[in-house]
Amino acid sequence: MPTNPKKVRQHGIKGAYVGGGWVDIEDCGDRFNITNPTPSDKTCDSCPNQTTCPRSRTRHVSVKDDGTYDVVIVGGGCVGASIARELTKYNLSILLLESADDVTQGATKGNSGIVHAGFDDKPGSVRAKYCWPGNQMFAQLDEELHFGYQKNGSLVLAKTKEERKVLDDLMERGRKNGVQRLKILEGKSVFEIEPFCNPNTIAALHSPDAGNLIPYEFAIAMAENAADNGAEVRIRRTVSAIEATDAGFEVTADHWEPKSYAKTMHGSEATVPEPEVNDSKAVPAAVIAALGAAGAGFLKSQPQFTDEMAMGVAAAALVLALIVFLSSSAKPNRVQGEGKAKDSRKPVGTGGSRVSVDEMMVGGSGSMSANDGVVVGTEKIKCRFIVNAAGGGSDKISAMIGDDSFTIKPRLGDYLLLNREQGYLAKHTLFPCPDPVLGKGVLVQTTLWGNLILGPTARDTYLKDKMDMTDEDVQKFILSKCKDLVPDFDSKQVIHGFVGARAKNSTGDWIIEESKVNSNFIQAAGIDSPGLAGSPAIAVEVVRLLQKNGLSKAKNKNFNPNRAPIITPKDGWKGIKAGPVGKFTDPKVNVICKCEKVTEHEVITALRRSLPIDSTQGIRKRTRAGMGHCQGDAENYNCECRVADVIARENGYGKKEEVGRRPWPATSTLPQRWLEESEKENLVELAKK
Ligand SMILES: Cc1cc2nc3c(=O)[nH]c(=O)nc-3n(C[C@H](O)[C@H](O)[C@H](O)COP(=O)(O)OP(=O)(O)OC[C@H]3O[C@@H](n4cnc5c(N)ncnc54)[C@H](O)[C@@H]3O)c2cc1C
Repeated sequence: MPTNPKKVRQHGIKGAYVGGGWVDIEDCGDRFNITNPTPSDKTCDSCPNQTTCPRSRTRHVSVKDDGTYDVVIVGGGCVGASIARELTKYNLSILLLESADDVTQGATKGNSGIVHAGFDDKPGSVRAKYCWPGNQMFAQLDEELHFGYQKNGSLVLAKTKEERKVLDDLMERGRKNGVQRLKILEGKSVFEIEPFCNPNTIAALHSPDAGNLIPYEFAIAMAENAADNGAEVRIRRTVSAIEATDAGFEVTADHWEPKSYAKTMHGSEATVPEPEVNDSKAVPAAVIAALGAAGAGFLKSQPQFTDEMAMGVAAAALVLALIVFLSSSAKPNRVQGEGKAKDSRKPVGTGGSRVSVDEMMVGGSGSMSANDGVVVGTEKIKCRFIVNAAGGGSDKISAMIGDDSFTIKPRLGDYLLLNREQGYLAKHTLFPCPDPVLGKGVLVQTTLWGNLILGPTARDTYLKDKMDMTDEDVQKFILSKCKDLVPDFDSKQVIHGFVGARAKNSTGDWIIEESKVNSNFIQAAGIDSPGLAGSPAIAVEVVRLLQKNGLSKAKNKNFNPNRAPIITPKDGWKGIKAGPVGKFTDPKVNVICKCEKVTEHEVITALRRSLPIDSTQGIRKRTRAGMGHCQGDAENYNCECRVADVIARENGYGKKEEVGRRPWPATSTLPQRWLEESEKENLVELAKK
């Protein structure tokens, strides 16, 4: 570890985390900077149509000659992506369908990124069965896929005698769950390894096997490697119906695109989907439209009025009806508040209002409605097996085959993210003693990239008091709870806020089994925390269930477990330069995002991988462009605009406007993307209360 206690290793800076441990930049050549000519790389280099790659899908298809797939996976979160990769170890045709504009836009992007060891899950539960085995798979997975994994270990802190007893209980639970190397540290020994934790700490449960990663980078790596090994991925496909057939299933997927793209580039007449209207908004609009039509008819019959004047009345009524309809269509069930964020300097981006809980269940900030999308086609897909990995939407997918054995009851988890300079304050993932109902509690952790992450809350969406919390209530709750773990963090260093929705379900445990309605339909459903940690082990189990039911076990001899990283570790500003657009023409030198030192080459690398990307948020998740302390401030280096330029060029778009922009406010509780001094001061005050 660095000797300065205020320095913390940050992935990609003078080295990288590989397989759980640190590798210095000098040694990254063999361990991290691997080159892995994937099928898609080859396609891109040699393909004359590089600039007209198919949109919203992988370049290859994996459909069989008879037009069917062996397995369709619904949902491209960490669970669906892990299952897809596991299946590509066999000779199969696999299709992954994701409703959002990218993989990993559901719960997988909005979580703490902890690879839990699994000591607190109820012994005998499905969670406990898969968490520890999953945890043990991550080091090897990262050696192969280079998403970045740090085995930092976790500590549960006890400050009272009662809490000290809880540590014994957790230790015993851990033993029952097969978790190894757990140890209780007493008194001073806690501060030797965690100098900045609450000075009133009397003991801590240490689990050295816990780790952390950036969850979306993990899921992207899994999905990308699955695609490299032949799985087909289609994004912007919302599964809307499933019919059982003699040979398996017919899946209906609605393909959507952002309106702007659909109209100017898709070349098709976009069909606006039927909105889910409720009477309160549809009726007044319909009344105005009807009155308008009747009025127009009346005027037309009067000699003093021309046809044009009557048509004018009808048109005005229609416009008014549309306004009434839209204004009363404010999305229900907002994450909190009215959803409108104050923007003194409005960031370029889609949305403008908070992503609703319903949207979070299907696509989140990458959903059709959050991206002003329209359905441009309906696809009918035949397959033998279906895996339901639809997270928050998994109850709806299950109900499509008549299996309504569970419902999803979302529980929101809000976070605040602090600047990288705060990362030195937590070496381990720091938990309070767990709450018997609300779970692991609000934690403090240094992310792989050196930011300090605070959260999450646990707000059940069916509880009014939780949903009535104001933004400030939420922020105050997080900051005060975290001050109890690490008193010294600086609340002025908050740079970002986000919310994830746990797919809690009515059975109280994960559902990993064949459906009782149809054994060719495998549930990997309702997977809340620690589903990220469990996901690789869940994938192995799902493949076992499929094979038990007749899926071919013939091995894919060409399976390549390796994937090159997208990022290149940097040594300060050595070899890279920031400047005005167009000044530096070598992509390896030209810096696109100054805060995170992302080069144009890294953006191009991401775009040429096997998964489709057409938005700045897709690039943000893969390269970190826009993730830094300025959060893509247009008045700083305007990295989002620079990224959009590269996407437009690489994807062959005529106009930069066709590139999807990062939505705002998405799920953030912050008043605006770029906080003003007074707003930062307010966070400091909230932390004191
Ligand atoms: C606040 C919070 C903190 C957490 N912390 C941790 C942690 O530290 N460690 C840990 O191990 N776990 C953690 N978890 C749990 C973890 O995030 C989840 O278990 C995991 O992400 C679930 O993955 P998934 O693939 O099942 O679901 P998701 O990531 O939600 O993926 C499901 C996908 O299905 C898609 N979908 C839904 N309906 C349809 C449809 N009709 N058609 C097509 N696609 C559809 C969605 O768009 C979504 O992308 C946390 C969760 C939350 C919310």
